[in-house]
Amino acid sequence: MTLRLGLLGGGQLGRMLALSARNLGFEVIVLEPNPEAPARAAARQLQKAYDDNDALRELAACDFVTFEFENIPEAAAKALNQPGQFAPPVSALLVSQDRWVEKNTFQKLGIPTPAFLKVDSLEDAQDAFKRLGPLVLKTRKFGYDGKGQAVVRSAQNLSEAYMQLNDAPAIAEKLVPFEREISVITCRGRDGQTVVYPVTENIHKKGVLHKSLAPAPGLSPVLVAEAQDMAQRLVDHFNYVGVLALELFQVDGTLKANEFAPRVHNSGHWTMEGAVTSQFENHVRAVCDLPLGCADLRAPSVMLNLIGEIPPRTQLLSITDAHLHDYAKPARPGRKVGHLTCLGATLKEASERAALAETAIKGENSVSTE
Ligand code: AMP
Repeated sequence: MTLRLGLLGGGQLGRMLALSARNLGFEVIVLEPNPEAPARAAARQLQKAYDDNDALRELAACDFVTFEFENIPEAAAKALNQPGQFAPPVSALLVSQDRWVEKNTFQKLGIPTPAFLKVDSLEDAQDAFKRLGPLVLKTRKFGYDGKGQAVVRSAQNLSEAYMQLNDAPAIAEKLVPFEREISVITCRGRDGQTVVYPVTENIHKKGVLHKSLAPAPGLSPVLVAEAQDMAQRLVDHFNYVGVLALELFQVDGTLKANEFAPRVHNSGHWTMEGAVTSQFENHVRAVCDLPLGCADLRAPSVMLNLIGEIPPRTQLLSITDAHLHDYAKPARPGRKVGHLTCLGATLKEASERAALAETAIKGENSVSTE
């Protein structure tokens, strides 16, 4: 009998999860209100709201259930939360939905973070500026890709920045002069077996991930081990099942945690060709109680997000060992519509191939990549 995987959310992450699940022989049912859901390509879509009771019942009837984004309504997660069936755990989902709780969890687990304070009023924000100096105000909930955030470098800008949050509960975080941003992706199975991917360097533009390099060039073995150990502590804490991504800042030769995502992550797209087993396949394996695949590097990789529209395919595909993933989304400025992963014998070679692709992208769409 064909086993069924229920999936909450049908964007590009859902699409790549569904494709992996299909390859492993699962039937996939996706709950997604958007009629143009990228996951439709590999799943039967329930085109209903995420909190639609009938649709949730249908998902709950699947053998296993997972999700592709963390801002799912708490009621939906709770309705689906059957032990042995739903993963990753709701506890991790709820912590990741609230930056204040998330940062406190990091601290409890001995994972260093930028200094942070709770902000519920303009007075709190003023007090935080006195104590922390230049800071980032972030709403506790519903922030992504730099949204719901304001950088405050001088006291004069404080009230304007605070106003932008519309009185939403927030935190203030010390603005850290990081050297770079890195992430580590780990996957834990139902039996506690854990695999961890090589640490990735992530380069953002306008708050959106632009490029990932794997493995993160020049990262010392000590910091690699530290990053991987932090991710391990998190998944053990939650008795986690599935893929978890931890985003870190490298500051003065140390690591500070920014946030974690209880799901597959954009900085892990390179694993589709660059690792022995992709993050998507390993997530499906974990959720569906199958043995995990090896997470070792197959080849140094550079992943480029394709923003706005897909550049001319012939140019991208004429690059050696370049792999295009088109999410079949309508073109729109600023939207992630696909990605390209370039592999090489060395990271230098992979970067040279990615540079050729960037030239093709710039020619096509200079706005999206600048
Ligand atoms: P976030 O939504 O928390 O991932 O933040 C989006 C981006 O803002 C990060 O990728 C960083 O580039 C930047 N950022 C966030 N927090 C800080 C911080 N405490 N110090 C410096 N930059 C930050």
